[in-house]
Amino acid sequence: MNLFIKNIGQLVTVASLGKRVKTGSDMRELHIHTNASLLIENGIITAIGGPELLYPEDIDVIDAEGKVVLPGFVDSHTHTVFAGSRENEFAMRSEGKTYQEIAEAGGGILSTMRATREAGKRDLYRLAERRLNTMLRNGTTTVEIKSGYGLSPESEMKILEVISELKRDHYVTVVATFLGAHAFPPEYKDDKQGYVDRICDYMLPYVAEKKLATFIDVFCETGYFDLKMTEQIILEAKRRGLIPKIHADQLNAIGAVELGARHNAISVDHLEKTNGEGIAALKNSQTIATVLPGCSLFLNHPYAPARKMIDEGIPLAIATDFNPGSQMCSSMQMMLTLACTQMQMTPEESITAATLNGAAALGLSNDIGSIEIGKQADVVLYSVHDYRFIPYHYGTNHVWKVVKSGVLLDF
Ligand SMILES: [Zn+2]
Repeated sequence: MNLFIKNIGQLVTVASLGKRVKTGSDMRELHIHTNASLLIENGIITAIGGPELLYPEDIDVIDAEGKVVLPGFVDSHTHTVFAGSRENEFAMRSEGKTYQEIAEAGGGILSTMRATREAGKRDLYRLAERRLNTMLRNGTTTVEIKSGYGLSPESEMKILEVISELKRDHYVTVVATFLGAHAFPPEYKDDKQGYVDRICDYMLPYVAEKKLATFIDVFCETGYFDLKMTEQIILEAKRRGLIPKIHADQLNAIGAVELGARHNAISVDHLEKTNGEGIAALKNSQTIATVLPGCSLFLNHPYAPARKMIDEGIPLAIATDFNPGSQMCSSMQMMLTLACTQMQMTPEESITAATLNGAAALGLSNDIGSIEIGKQADVVLYSVHDYRFIPYHYGTNHVWKVVKSGVLLDF
């Protein structure tokens, strides 16, 4: 499908100019064209110009009426495939109950695990499809989805197969991550190393052989997967061609960031507790720091030191961490607001972190994440006159139209 978009008030390109990821002051450079036009042919951006830009006669034309156009958001960290919900825990937390008390009352990751194990593939697919539709309507055109609510070979593979089907069917570009190491299932409560071995010797070979995931992820945290277990899983996954990511420094800084940097993880995610040593390790690596401000808001936890990381030249991405326990908001527009108000990032830095740098955290920044000639036409039109209005007027969806891979979607 060919498409011409004219009368764009602000075309926010986030141009990478050939870079994989933006860092430091470069994150503030959005490369905005005013009164712009955009030509899309066969799903690819083929020309960017002003009102004079020529276009073929037999082409669909969108009049943007002076509105703002941004690259589609890339949400590089979500747990979108799950069954059940945990509003009861939300209410318990509001009454001051601790995580331990909630877990004792049958809550936590294991409550979602039980619901997800019981759910059929078709139900899981339908639930996740609806969530992806919401994300798309809110301007997110690429979503990474982790497994991790099955915690047994059969149910983890069931989730990864659902993710594969969504990848095949849905307009959203879906990227799969195997997170068998999300928590310890009840069957291995007293044999944690046994579960790690099960992941390495039984699940990983299957995931790699069937190409069910691009990335491996581990929840490296006190009481969960320690450094040694995380390293064992990462090494085995790398040997089988998967690229590592780590849930790092969410509750305690135990060296997970340093481990990720040492093993060339494409990203380390969370980082609420990252200290000077973690920052130093990231500075000397290619690893992207992915911060998840929605999680800090929802759990009333500290925010990751994003400002310091950007100032130190560390590549930084923002994602939602959408999941039923600790972050039930899938709006990247809301994440921009939290980045600006809670992490001292500028609107420009937060947009870069949510588009190009998110794409880099998935190894996709050559194809998506910015509006540049030759890139996939994932562009979103917003009913606003200035891009800064999006994080400023928060809690509302400003998306007007979504163009995914050159196709104007009809909601
Ligand atoms: Zn997560």
